Formats: sequence, structure tokens, C-alpha cells
Amino acid sequence: MNKPFSKEIVETLHKKLINEERDILARVRELKADDPFSNPDHVNDNAAIDTDVREQTGHDTIEAQVISLEKRLFQIQAAFKKIAEKKYGTCENCSKQILLARLQLVPEARYCIDCEKKFVK
Ligand SMILES: [Zn+2]
Repeated sequence: MNKPFSKEIVETLHKKLINEERDILARVRELKADDPFSNPDHVNDNAAIDTDVREQTGHDTIEAQVISLEKRLFQIQAAFKKIAEKKYGTCENCSKQILLARLQLVPEARYCIDCEKKFVK
């Protein structure tokens, strides 16, 4: 059984996660503001077909980015929960401790490297 991370380490990573969450939320807001579908003129604009296609493509690209950011957000929030439950840094699959170097790179990591490899095919 590994020694759990010190309070200081968890606090440092917690701060990192808070910053990341804030950045992602800001990015999602920016993307949504850029979405042609959120333009109030869009609905009645009677635009030419090519404009509609461009708007659709823009909307799809933005939506895909928002979805991937929201997935990360979800993982970050799961990490906050683990910190609160004092389980932060343990693999959700095998319960082994996740390497600190990995958490410093990906503080929201839920699995150790070995398990992550099994999941990502
Ligand atoms: Zn594992």
C-alpha cells in the first residue's frame, strides 16, 4: 500500500484543477458566444443556402469542442469529489496510487497508467 499524497501536494493539484475548471468554463462561454445559432438574428434571417451551410458547420464544430470541454469539466468535478472524499490520487479501477508525475500533468486523471491503457484502445 502506497503512502497517500501529502496535504500540500493535494492542495497544489486542487488549485491546478480549480484554475483549469475556470479556464474551461471561460472557453465554453466564448465558444457559445461564437456559435452562429446563438445569434438572435439567425432564426429569421432567411439567409442564402450557403450561409446556412456555413452556419451549420460553424455550429457543429463549436458543439464538438464544447462537448469535449464539458467532458473534461465532468472529470475535473469528479476529481473535486475524490479530493473531498480523501480518495484523490487513487485509481478508480485497481485502487492503486496514481503516479504523481501523471497527476501533475493530468490532475483530473481517474485511472493509473496501466488501467488507462486497458480502457483506451
Ligand atoms: Zn489502475
